[in-house]
Order: sequence, then C-alpha cells, then structure tokens
Amino acid sequence: MQGNMMDVPLTLPFILERVRTQYAEREVVSLVVGGRDEAGQPVPQKHRITYGEVADRALRLGAGLQALGLNRGDRVATLAVNSYRHLEAYLGIPSAGFVVHTVNIRLHPEQIAWILNDAGDRVLLVENLFAPLIPALRAACPQLERVFVFGKAPTPIEGAEDYDTWVTSQEPLSRYPQLDEDEAAGMCYTSGTTGNPKGVLYTHRSTILHSLATAHKDALNIGERDSVLPIVPMFHVNAWGIPYTCAMYGAKQVYAGPFTDGPTLARLMQDEEVTLTAGVPTIWMGLLAELDRAKAAGQPYDLHCLQRVLVGGSALPESLIRVFEARHGLHLAQGWGMTETHPLGTVSTMPPGVDERSDEGYTLRAKQGRALPLVFLDLLSEEGERLPHDGKTMGRLITRGPWIAGSYFGGEGQQNFLDLDGELWFDTGDIATLDERGFMHIQDRAKDLIKSGGEWISSVDLENALMAHPAVAQAAVIAMDDPKWDERPLAVITLKPGQTVTHEELRDFLAPKFAKWWLPDATVVAESIPIGATGKFLKRELREQYRGYGSA
Ligand code: ADP
Repeated sequence: MQGNMMDVPLTLPFILERVRTQYAEREVVSLVVGGRDEAGQPVPQKHRITYGEVADRALRLGAGLQALGLNRGDRVATLAVNSYRHLEAYLGIPSAGFVVHTVNIRLHPEQIAWILNDAGDRVLLVENLFAPLIPALRAACPQLERVFVFGKAPTPIEGAEDYDTWVTSQEPLSRYPQLDEDEAAGMCYTSGTTGNPKGVLYTHRSTILHSLATAHKDALNIGERDSVLPIVPMFHVNAWGIPYTCAMYGAKQVYAGPFTDGPTLARLMQDEEVTLTAGVPTIWMGLLAELDRAKAAGQPYDLHCLQRVLVGGSALPESLIRVFEARHGLHLAQGWGMTETHPLGTVSTMPPGVDERSDEGYTLRAKQGRALPLVFLDLLSEEGERLPHDGKTMGRLITRGPWIAGSYFGGEGQQNFLDLDGELWFDTGDIATLDERGFMHIQDRAKDLIKSGGEWISSVDLENALMAHPAVAQAAVIAMDDPKWDERPLAVITLKPGQTVTHEELRDFLAPKFAKWWLPDATVVAESIPIGATGKFLKRELREQYRGYGSA
C-alpha cells in the first residue's frame, strides 16, 4: 500500500527561494581583485552583498540564459574563483533548467579545452583573472556560443562580454521551469589523477540531500548563525557542497577569491568572525606559519569565533591536528570524499566518552571518519570478496548512496561501477580499513599502494609519520622497483628551512611506529614535490622521476 505523503521534487529553486525570502538580509562577503600593486600582483578588495541581492542576480542570470535560447539540460561552464558571482551561477543556472559545469582553473589550458568540448558547454563564465585564456579557448571550442567575464576585463577581449552588464540588463526569472529532481544540476570532472578526466553529473536531488545531511550537527554543523569560509575552491567538487549547504540554512558566506595566502586568510577569518572553514591540508600549513609568526610577534589573531576547521582532499596528519590544537586552540576535523561522491562521504565525529584531545581522540581524528547518513561503505578484497570491518584488514573501498555517482557522463569508466548482488556500488579506487564502529581509515589510492613481498604498505601512513619529524616539511612515499620484493618504499621529502636529516635518523624516528619491513629503503631530499591541480602530490610524476632509483 502506498503512503499518503506528497511527492515534492527536491530541486534547487527550493534553496534559491529560501535565500531570496527567508535569508534576504544575510551577507555574502567576497575578496575580489581591486587593482594591481607595483609588482603587478592582484590586490584584494572586500565586496559585500546580501543573499537577497544574490538571489535577484541569480534569477536575472537564469532569465538571461533562457533568452540566449539554451535548451533544458544545456551546460554552462564556469572558470572562476570563489565569489558571490560564482554563487549566483550555482543557484541561477540550475534553477533555470541548465547545468552549472564548474571547471578547474588549475588545469592546463589544453585540458580545459578538452573538458569544455567533452561537456559540450555552450556558454562560459570566466573570471577576469583568466581572461587571457579566452581567445585560445574560443579557437579550440567551436561549440562555445557566448563568453561572459566576471569583473572588469584587463583589456577588451574579442568575443567576450561583460557579465555584470548582461546580467543586470535582464528581468529576473518570473517562473521556475517544472524541474524533475533527477535532472542534472551540476557537473564536475575528476581531476584526472587516475587517467582521463571523467564527467560526473550531480542531480538536483543529490544536491539537496547532500546539503541537508552535511549541515547536521554530527557532520559540518552549519546553521544560520554561522559564518563560513570555504577555502576549498568552488571549481573543485562544488567546494564540498558548502555554498549550497550554507544557502539552504542561511549561514553567512565568506569567499577569499584568489587570495589564499596565510596572512589574508587569517585576517579575513578574524574580521568576518568566521566560525567554520574548510580546505586541503596544504592550505593549513600556510595558515599555521602565519599564525605562528603573528603569535611570536606578540600580535596573535583573534580567532575565538572559529570553532571548526574541516580538512579533506588528502590525508590529514595527526601531527598537524595536534599542533593546531596545542599552539592555537584550533580544532581540525577530517572529511573524505571525491568528485564522484558529490563529495562528502565521511566526516570524523567523536563517539560519547572519547575526549577529542585524548590520544584516542587524536587517533580517531586522524582517520577519515564515519559515513554520513544514507552513505554506505564496504571493503572488497582483490578477488571481490567482502572483507571484515575490524580496523585492520585493508581492502578496496566501495560506496553507494543517493549522492554517489551511478555512472560517468558519456558512459566512460564502467569498470568503476559494480553490480554486487543486484546493488549498484562505486569502486572508489581507495584502499581503506573500516572498524567495528564504522571509522574509515584511508591507507592509500590503489595505484599508490606499495606492494612488498605480496603485502601492502600504506604510503599515506608513512607520509603522515614522516611529516611529524621536526626537520621534514613535506613527504611523499612511492614504490621503487625491487628485484626481491617487487616494490619497496622510497621517501621523497622536502626540508624545513635550515634543517637537515639523514635517512638513518628518519628510519629510527619511524621504527617505533611501524613493522620493520614497512620502513623506507631510501630517502631523497628534494627541492620540491610536484603538486597537482587539486593540491595533492603528483605521485605519478614522482614515480616517473625516480624510476629505476637505487637499481643503478
Ligand atoms: P581525483 O580522484 O582525481 O584525485 P578527487 O578530488 O575526486 O580527485 O579526489 C578524491 C580522492 O582524494 C579520494 O579518492 C581519496 O583518495 C583522496 N582523499 C579525499 N579526502 C581524503 C582524506 N581526508 N584523506 C585521505 N585521502 C583523501
């Protein structure tokens, strides 16, 4: 028998209407480029706007796109930093029946053109900072019909128009289209660290459900009284969904634009009384240096409002959690996800009775956390058997849920989607453990795992431990070929200024924490470690660089 409840589609106009009416006075603060300094570097300028105004502009954007003759489901690309204009695109494009396709600006221009072509984008919204790319993209992407520039273009660019002039000349959309909750609302490409980028299409429904779930107390804990600074870029997996979650609940949003250096971020958090911020581990290392400097100079920042710092994208070393807590009283929490999981799958939360500042608390916080409601996690062996959740057995992490991709755009990468007893699961490509309470701990990407004598060694665990050494700034551990064991770990490190360390010292430092056969066979001190478009170590490049290392 059917129940009696209404079938109300979960679509994005719901969020847009909420900010337009209920939260119209709440602010969105952005750092925008306010000119250039003597060295030609962009200078930040603060811009303030209300949600009411953002909603009005989003409705004008939607109407403008309809007037261009776009069809339902057509893709509109953005190539932009975090700002109120990007938020307008997040809300206005899908609410008018189109798909907001956020493109990663850190990719190589040829890769950007490849992605725009693959997605079939008809309109492109570009930040003025990246305007110099427009002529090449226009030439390489014949299906692009119109290009609009966010902010003043440095010089007029042929084939590009001013976004603000266009948007403000439109009448706001007066009626939303009848949207189906399973229609595509957003699009992101995987960053390609595991092969060609693949498109993932988020639905209206997945966006709404993800926003509802991530706002929860035992997830990101976002409400109307919060002031949230997502440092994770809006071009990368929807800034972990934070702009939508904040809009749904009316939290103030603070955007740093292209200014992600430690001093600018610290000042912005202080001045805008930020309560929650989120980003990849590399951002926090920059911020830590600035907080340390200011404290040593006797002028510490006042960050008493900042209750939570969410870290994800790559593993968060326990040493970093401890340092932030001990020196600055700041609370780092970890989340895990990926482009295909829209993106949050887990968040670290504390069970009752565990003190967050106890050894057990720190150990749990260094794990990736527990699945959000409606997300399922499991482990598979190499033979495809389900593995125990005992906190020790490593396996391929698989997941399913209403905001987990069920396929890729264009039917690519079918091998990542598994039919297990009639249920669809997504194979994340991560190797993890799960314990009895559901705490997930990423050990590695499958392709980065080191296989020594038939046993797995987690490069992530070794890296986190190495980065706790006082001389080590960054550490990446990769497999090197070994005639006897197939592969052995090689540590590539960079040093903190003025520090030195030997391979033997590092082995001694690691020895109490690991089985002897896990310890790296060699250590290379490098000038830098290559970092990819989403702020992670490019291990593929490192493996190329050190191919044959030690065998000569
Ligand atoms: P790509 O898959 O192309 O690298 P994503 O941004 O989608 O791009 O990255 C997702 C991957 O990032 C995950 O599969 C996982 O390996 C890694 N990752 C994300 N969050 C964490 C975390 N908290 N700890 C460890 N690894 C993480």
